[in-house]
Amino acid sequence: PSVQDCTICMERLSAPSGYKGPQPAVKPDLVGKLVKCGHVFHLHCLVAMYNNGNKDGSLQCPTCKTIYGVKTGTQPPGKMEYHIIPHALPGHSDCKTIRIIYNIPPGVQGPEHPNPGKSFTARGFPRHCYLPDSEKGRKVLKLLLVAWDRRLIFAIGTSSTTGESDTVIWNEIHHKTEFGSNLTGHGYPDINYLDNVLAELAAQGITEESLAQEKD
Ligand SMILES: [Zn+2]
Ligand SMILES: [Zn+2]
Repeated sequence: PSVQDCTICMERLSAPSGYKGPQPAVKPDLVGKLVKCGHVFHLHCLVAMYNNGNKDGSLQCPTCKTIYGVKTGTQPPGKMEYHIIPHALPGHSDCKTIRIIYNIPPGVQGPEHPNPGKSFTARGFPRHCYLPDSEKGRKVLKLLLVAWDRRLIFAIGTSSTTGESDTVIWNEIHHKTEFGSNLTGHGYPDINYLDNVLAELAAQGITEESLAQEKD
């Protein structure tokens, strides 16, 4: 598409929105520019896109993925704790280890979940996860704590390993659940893990830079 096209409906910005779904109240010929990235769309298309999403208070630019607002998820209630254990992870022999413990009990799904009113299961809790207690590992921990508060670590859905539906599942931010070995692929050593998880957190709108901006 050229810069004069709306990449949501693929029509020219000089023409009205070509969005065919349920029509939002905004006039179809209005055009709006996103302030941070400068990409331009029909306002009608942006509102329709928001209405078709999970309406979590945030909007992601479909062109460059910049996130506007604070993205929140649908993680059910529970507890996140962490402490330092005096052992090194494979590949991180120069530091101790941060152990994160997630605990989510089973319960009943809320209106934001796939089957409101139906119960959900929570398998394998408490779940233990590991990070090196290095500068980068502590940075990841700090951002994971934000992700937890924003309900982005877990979701309710269908388990890709067991096929069970209406159960608590991980939500797009990978964790290392194996401590001294790497039999499952969810262990150490994994030299790219910290960078990968930082990228996954950034995709959810969580970076040190964005946290600093929100405090202003
Ligand atoms: Zn459009
Ligand atoms: Zn953009």
